[in-house]
Amino acid sequence: MIVRKKFALALHGGAGTVSPEQITRALERDLRAGLQRSLEAGRGILRDGGSSLDAVVAAVRLLEDDPLFNAGRGAVFTSAGTHEMDAAIMEGRTLMAGAVGSVKGVRNPILLARAVMEKSPHVLLAGPGAEDFARELGHEIVDDEYFYTEQRWQALERVRNTSNLSDQDRHGTVGAVALDQAGNLAAATSTGGNTNKMPGRIGDTPIIGAGTYANNATCAVSATGDGEFFIRAVAAHDLAALLEYRRITLAEAAKSVIDKIGRLGGTGGLIAVDRAGNIALPFNTTGMYRAFVDIDGASFTGIYR
Ligand code: ASP
Repeated sequence: MIVRKKFALALHGGAGTVSPEQITRALERDLRAGLQRSLEAGRGILRDGGSSLDAVVAAVRLLEDDPLFNAGRGAVFTSAGTHEMDAAIMEGRTLMAGAVGSVKGVRNPILLARAVMEKSPHVLLAGPGAEDFARELGHEIVDDEYFYTEQRWQALERVRNTSNLSDQDRHGTVGAVALDQAGNLAAATSTGGNTNKMPGRIGDTPIIGAGTYANNATCAVSATGDGEFFIRAVAAHDLAALLEYRRITLAEAAKSVIDKIGRLGGTGGLIAVDRAGNIALPFNTTGMYRAFVDIDGASFTGIYR
């Protein structure tokens, strides 16, 4: 009998969900199908003995291509009506990391973040330099139209005209965390940032330790929410540090990080998997698009509490 080693995968499509009153059946079906596709892509890789790094990239890439999520194709608009994207990846075994900030025209920022990690001497590349690097490596470059979606344009108009914003208009990001059969952790996150952000603004996503972190000694984390708060709380690394120094459970540590964000006045959520394969998905918003497959092979997709 072949005894399979365990693996686990969790992903999120952002803590800014359509309100439960406004969601239509068709939209809910499409959102869940998007999460499911991404989960299956990552699960297939992990089941076949592939690396957590490959699994999180595959999962995030599909979410970037799905116009319903705020990353890649469905990225939100800046105040200038443009799209500027952030992404990051981290490998728990080596503590290698790669990230891009404020990039335009790159179809899959997560692939570029991985290239920064594997093919450059740097951790974080931003703006035109990152875009040149993408071109040099032959990454797919697309024009502005590719990123135009009616729902994001309307969100920009709403944000310009009101100060009372819904979670959906404020938030969104995609991310994945995984433990592979070899015991290696990885995290990947990708976002269009927040609607109406100033051009040049970079959020928590590509800041290693804020929106993205992985360390085989503790856990892998991908966050979503008010980026400025996650940066100031150094949220993802804080979670790992709680596990390392306080020896509390993943669920306790994850909740305490989100509680801290809340106390600072921020909203959002995160997904995390620890080296034993435990999964936590806390959030303090109305919902968070999320899915996971746990070490027993049980899977779940959810939007609200
Ligand atoms: N955390 C992302 C950012 O601040 C956006 C979000 O997840 O809502 O860029």
